[in-house]
Amino acid sequence: MQKKELIGLAVPQLESLVASFGEPAYRGRQLYSALYQQRQWDFRQLTPFPLAFRDRLERDCQATLPQVNKKFQSEDGTARYLLRLADGQRIETVLMPERARNTICVSTQAGCPVDCKFCLTGVMGFFRNLTVGEIVGQVLLLVQDNNLALDRRLNLVFMGMGEPLLNYSNVRAAIYLLADPKGIALSPARMTLSTAGVVPGIKRLGQEPLRPKLAVSLNAATDELRNQIMPLNRKWPLAELLRVCREFPLRSGEKLTFEYVLLDGVNDRVEDARRLVRLVRGIRCKVNLIGLNPGPELTFRTPPDARVLHFQQTLFDKGVPAFLRKPRGRDIFAACGQLKLTESQPALANT
Ligand code: SF4
Repeated sequence: MQKKELIGLAVPQLESLVASFGEPAYRGRQLYSALYQQRQWDFRQLTPFPLAFRDRLERDCQATLPQVNKKFQSEDGTARYLLRLADGQRIETVLMPERARNTICVSTQAGCPVDCKFCLTGVMGFFRNLTVGEIVGQVLLLVQDNNLALDRRLNLVFMGMGEPLLNYSNVRAAIYLLADPKGIALSPARMTLSTAGVVPGIKRLGQEPLRPKLAVSLNAATDELRNQIMPLNRKWPLAELLRVCREFPLRSGEKLTFEYVLLDGVNDRVEDARRLVRLVRGIRCKVNLIGLNPGPELTFRTPPDARVLHFQQTLFDKGVPAFLRKPRGRDIFAACGQLKLTESQPALANT
């Protein structure tokens, strides 16, 4: 009989599980605290529990994290993990340390159905949604492997493989688990969810009582160009996307982030910057500019630094806060999806 996976279960699910073992509900809450607060996953070590209960857990349940298939350490401190899930699917999770804080970039799907043309995960195609436990498990694994404190210095970004809003219920449940003060207790204000522009998901997220900050990956300021590089735009064109962004209920002091990956000669001209200014006018926002992290199988190139700076200056001059985000870990195949693709096609590792 396959053992029941406990990582990813919330209090009510653990309470009904322990009830099926003939245990009182409070044992479910104790188990929750052992799993997420103490992060004790060896049931034999749960000595406050009666021996018979520990034996039952040992026999019928497991608490497992994704397995590290490979770990790549960049010169800039970025650690990129290729993780193996129970069914053999592989995903990427990244730790980006900075002086005062650490950021974990979490995947939400194995592969991605959105097919952005500048993204290697898109090239790979879609395999499946990740479970709640697989999403939470990535965070727990990197915290354990790097001895990180679960405090204000830790940020989470749901920007790894996959489109989080196309795996809405599991991503939502994972965020609630990660933010529960009685469990992992990470602040939702330190979490950012990045979407390619799934309009119904953005509307739904805006209504959540507990939610991360929102980032929208824009990358083009006309429908014509966005249709080409992000086919999702045909379903939810810019006017509709910008309307839900405008209506998104921001908290006091909160800004919406627009991400804009600069592609050499494609979306990096001054006219593009001016159009972008017009698009985001009236939205309390900032723009993160990222020079493309080039990768094999991608036809796009990174723009020269001077053009990136000129683009940024154009936004600044028109009153739009714009920040350059350095691509991290270029020496370790850091473009999203690059690691998995490189590992499945070893010849690419030398390109
Ligand atoms: S950029 Fe994000 S949404 Fe687009 S294909 Fe890549 S993983 Fe999917």
